[in-house]
Amino acid sequence: MQRYRQNDHPWREGRIFGYIFDVDEEVREVIRQAYTSFLTENALDPTVFPSLLEMEREVVAIAASHLQGDGEVVGNFTSGGTESIFLAVKAARDKFREENPHLTQIQMILPVTAHAAFHKAAHYLDVEAIVVPVDPRTFKADVEAMKDAITESTFLLVASAPSYSHGVIDPIEEIGQLALENNIYFHVDACIGGFLLPFWRKLGRDIPSFDFSVEGVSSISMDFHKYAYAAKGASVVLYRDKGLRKYQIFTCSHWTGYAMVNPTVQSSKSGGPLASCWALLNYLGEEGYLELSRKTLVATEKISQGIERIGGLYILGEPEMSLLAVASDEVNVFHIIDEMRARGWYIQPQFARGGGKENFHLSITAAHFSLVDPFLEDLEESVESARRLPPPEEVDLGELKVEDLDEVSMGAFLEMVGIREGRLPSRMAGIHQMLNSSSPELVEAFLRYFSNELYSL
Ligand SMILES: *Cc1c(COP(=O)(O)O)cnc(C)c1O
Repeated sequence: MQRYRQNDHPWREGRIFGYIFDVDEEVREVIRQAYTSFLTENALDPTVFPSLLEMEREVVAIAASHLQGDGEVVGNFTSGGTESIFLAVKAARDKFREENPHLTQIQMILPVTAHAAFHKAAHYLDVEAIVVPVDPRTFKADVEAMKDAITESTFLLVASAPSYSHGVIDPIEEIGQLALENNIYFHVDACIGGFLLPFWRKLGRDIPSFDFSVEGVSSISMDFHKYAYAAKGASVVLYRDKGLRKYQIFTCSHWTGYAMVNPTVQSSKSGGPLASCWALLNYLGEEGYLELSRKTLVATEKISQGIERIGGLYILGEPEMSLLAVASDEVNVFHIIDEMRARGWYIQPQFARGGGKENFHLSITAAHFSLVDPFLEDLEESVESARRLPPPEEVDLGELKVEDLDEVSMGAFLEMVGIREGRLPSRMAGIHQMLNSSSPELVEAFLRYFSNELYSL
């Protein structure tokens, strides 16, 4: 296994700006010990393992008070943001359907900056996602556009605090009013921001209200496996009250086995992620998290200022958290990503969607506090190298359309872009450039084919 690991990105050094939320060896050890000590317990039945019920109640209580919930707020521990979002959509869907049995095709309204998990939820849960534009300068949800999209079939409004792509907080109070006026549900996706933002507020940052203090907010998702640095498999979905959460719970007595009660998607599930999350929340406490949040804040400020100083780069919108989208009008951003990769840094491309411009994304964490200078030095060098490169060689798709893509043309297509046996070329700029200028449908078809090949023997 150690040999297998040789080609993995060396995340322990912190030279990665997505996927990894890691503090240090001390924290890793806490996570590991707690995780393994509850590895075998099954959270499927909290009456057999009341330890897990107790820990879940405590973790949910911490989350609820962190997000200014009152005694009525309830919730559940889940495996991640996606599961929390699925459950919130399902609860709102089922309650709305019960209240409006004549409506068959129901809709939720998403700003284009809402996380892809909502599109996935729409797909799995058979509801329609109505995507509306955001303000092209601030990248915040356009409340008028949301208002105009509301019909009698609208069951849910969605907003982010903040959005993953641009790190900006949607106008939650205004959208809350919209939800109240129309008597519909409103989910705030605070998956990435919910844990960190209250600490930044304590550190003096001006953070608009985004949580249960806002009228009209009916549910919130918040991940612990992001800025609470918990082991992956740790999130929470919270509801304003039990009346809505009830619709999240699935029960079954229509078979010959045990009577099943599943508040969340998984049935049998390890106690490890919950125990590990509980342990870390208690180990670090308010004080520990405040310090990590301060480091994240300082790193974000320094990196933002450094980027603004590097000629040719600029930050999209005005990020209110540690998530930056960096664009350029002079240098190809996909070349910059390749150049950074060659210098040992992983950063994510974001394509031009929703009227925006292609850019690279940085999720800055406490681990980047001590890496600001080497990062900015390498970034400046990378921009200069990228500037001297010719534009990425685009694969000519000709008249190719999604409906023309069959197994044969897809295979040829992968070869054309230099992907062989699931191995990506070391320079991805050409592929990124092509995907960036392709339709979302084509990119989705391509990625599905690629994944189907990747996981084949
Ligand atoms: C990470 C994230 C999600 C999805 O969470 P997973 O844990 O990856 O399933 C949803 N919304 C936002 C804003 C996120 O940052």
